Amino acid sequence: MKPKLLTATAVLFVIALIIILKFILSASPHIYKKSEFLMDTVITLTVVSNSEKRADEAIESAFNNLRRLERLLSFFDAGSEVSAINKNAGTGAVKVSPETFELTKTALEKAELSCGAFNPAIGPVMGLWDFKNKKRPADSELNKLLPLLDYTRIVLNINDSSVMLIDKGMLLDLGGIAKGYAADRTVELLKRAGMKGGIAAMAGDIRVWGTRPDGSPWRVGIRAPRGTSDDLIGVLSLEDLAVSTSGDYERFFIEGGIRYHHLIEPTTGYPAGDFQSVTIVNPEGVVTDALSTAVFVMGREKALRFIKKNKLMAYLIYADGTTYTTENLRALFDNR
Ligand code: AMP
Ligand code: MG
Repeated sequence: MKPKLLTATAVLFVIALIIILKFILSASPHIYKKSEFLMDTVITLTVVSNSEKRADEAIESAFNNLRRLERLLSFFDAGSEVSAINKNAGTGAVKVSPETFELTKTALEKAELSCGAFNPAIGPVMGLWDFKNKKRPADSELNKLLPLLDYTRIVLNINDSSVMLIDKGMLLDLGGIAKGYAADRTVELLKRAGMKGGIAAMAGDIRVWGTRPDGSPWRVGIRAPRGTSDDLIGVLSLEDLAVSTSGDYERFFIEGGIRYHHLIEPTTGYPAGDFQSVTIVNPEGVVTDALSTAVFVMGREKALRFIKKNKLMAYLIYADGTTYTTENLRALFDNR
């Protein structure tokens, strides 16, 4: 071969190599991620995709759907369907979207399952606890409102997709279950958009699907309750599972050495005292969210019986800092 021809062949070869490499790199799956403040918390969506464009579009439509769900389910937004149900307590049934109906129905099922430890009628008492201004209610005020926490007086009518609170003053609060539900809906949407794997993380309510690009499981940290928000006490390796942690460090104040927090025992109206945090793992986020709240509120003895009976995967941190991991979770859990 002549030297000129040799040089031209070499140049062509290098160009072809660059094109092939670029193609391989762009076709190999990558991780794409975006966070937004929504539902009173930071939500981070992570997806595995071969295409940045498709990943961006899928994440955007998932956030749009989350904004829509927030507008339906928020306790604080005066225009939400939950607020409409609450404003009509004692006066009338409110026709709602399939999502609000479905989630209220699931919340009532979890209330039954947990013998009322999970209580979506907790609203009136929640309103008395002012964590921002570190003010706790007087016992007389609390006791007056306890009769309004009867979740059996939340009535669903499947025929016209309506919800009614029978007594004036009742307040539906789906705050203990809505983020897990939103994680489920988000994963469903992202899967439909062709995303092969990822994480829908709504603060303490997280659902993962598929694997990381190298085929390994997703790793989800569990917070050390008395550390900073970056301190982990353990890490779970998860594929196609949801995990929720309910902790006494999320919204709280300390007065006279006692920690008052946002997980309320419905029979007393006071924060539940036996745990620092409760973590539940299950295929569905709506289940992990409701049951991490429920188990936290039950207290130690009932919680252990409930976990055993329902074969739950659980990681408990007791009030004294000691921990318990159920047998069925040990293979997925790395202690730090
Ligand atoms: P989570 O962080 O999922 O455990 O939920 C905490 C939220 O659930 C609180 O901010 C309340 O809105 C609500 N909540 C508190 N206590 C209960 C309870 N016993 N049952 C159901 N929801 C509750
Ligand atoms: Mg919860």
